[in-house]
Amino acid sequence: MNLPRIENIDVKGKRVFLRVDFNVPIENGVVTDTTRISKTLPTIELLINRWARLVIASHLGRPEGKVNPKYSMKPVYEKFKEIIKKEVVFSENVVGPEAVALSKQLNDGEVMLLENLRFHAEEEENSPDFAKKLSELADIYINDAFGAAHRAHASTEGITNYLPSYAGTLMYKEIEVLTSLITKPERPFVAIIGGAKVSSKLKILKNLFTKVNVMLIGGGMAYTFLKSRAVPVGASLVEKEFEVQAFQIIEKAGVAGIEFQLPVDHVIADAFSANAKSKTVDKMGILDGWMGMDIGPKTISNFEKVIKSAGTIFWNGPMGVFEMDKFSNGTVQIAKAIAKSSARSVVGGGDSIAAIAKAGVEDKITHISTGGGASLEFLEGKILPGVAALMKEK
Ligand code: AMP
Repeated sequence: MNLPRIENIDVKGKRVFLRVDFNVPIENGVVTDTTRISKTLPTIELLINRWARLVIASHLGRPEGKVNPKYSMKPVYEKFKEIIKKEVVFSENVVGPEAVALSKQLNDGEVMLLENLRFHAEEEENSPDFAKKLSELADIYINDAFGAAHRAHASTEGITNYLPSYAGTLMYKEIEVLTSLITKPERPFVAIIGGAKVSSKLKILKNLFTKVNVMLIGGGMAYTFLKSRAVPVGASLVEKEFEVQAFQIIEKAGVAGIEFQLPVDHVIADAFSANAKSKTVDKMGILDGWMGMDIGPKTISNFEKVIKSAGTIFWNGPMGVFEMDKFSNGTVQIAKAIAKSSARSVVGGGDSIAAIAKAGVEDKITHISTGGGASLEFLEGKILPGVAALMKEK
């Protein structure tokens, strides 16, 4: 993909609008995970070292177009200053004369961070007027927010109509890794897909049929597949309206020669609760009133065997209700198995990344994608609007 890169551009003394994905978890006003910030540091440091005047902008959560202190970027600002060990100017205003004035007061190598872009409904509406106003804060636009690239918003798409636009180093790396994953994977290529709902992953499943050799399915979505095969699933999460499509996917996998594995045993519970009664049963053993909460030991062992001999692995979505310790074993064991395998591995999605962290194996994964939704949409074969915008003729 011919993305315009920042390595060869002259940014000295120029105001650079850097769109990042600092949509980090915050508890009691404190940032609890800094992964997304640290992943953007190579771009930020490169621009500071080359004496750019940086205007950094991000969204945070879903304030739905209204100013809401709960979603203020202030805690991110505090953490960011600590991480880059540098003074940073905070702009309460995202657009308008005061924000523009602050951007013009920046000296070479200085940094300013804007308040939450999504305090303005025009951001998500991709309003041309708002995009133009954002562009007034800078001379150059750089997008390093891969995690937001699947959205056509004013700060990811519209703004590129008004400024020379480039991909940051993180954006470039994400696209490069995901492109090579689908264009030249080492075989066998194994996709491990989990998470709550089959409906949100139907497209990726269908798209991956043309690319992978093996599919391992876990998590809540497995129960719609099992139900479609008349396996008793008790009170497990099932999307009734997608049973037919689930059945067709299994059939199509067979026709395409793809090994499609569903869980063969489960950790089940009598309620959706961390304190529920639980036990391990085989796939025919989920009784009425009980629900599948995690993959069982036989499934883990089956999946481990496949993972061990894989050439390429893509993983998205937990194997069980990972947030509850009692039901996190399957997900953590899969993280460990991926770490042990010599395959090239790419992991995307918040829960899978958290499992990798919980298993303490971050450094054993080839690439941890900062964009769960964006990486899925990319692998679905979609051109992400934030990426297309960087490549279009102006
Ligand atoms: P997703 O965002 O689609 O990747 O789904 C992640 C969510 O799936 C997590 O919050 C998990 O708790 C949930 N999940 C995983 N396995 C199950 C299951 N067996 N039953 C219900 N929810 C599940």
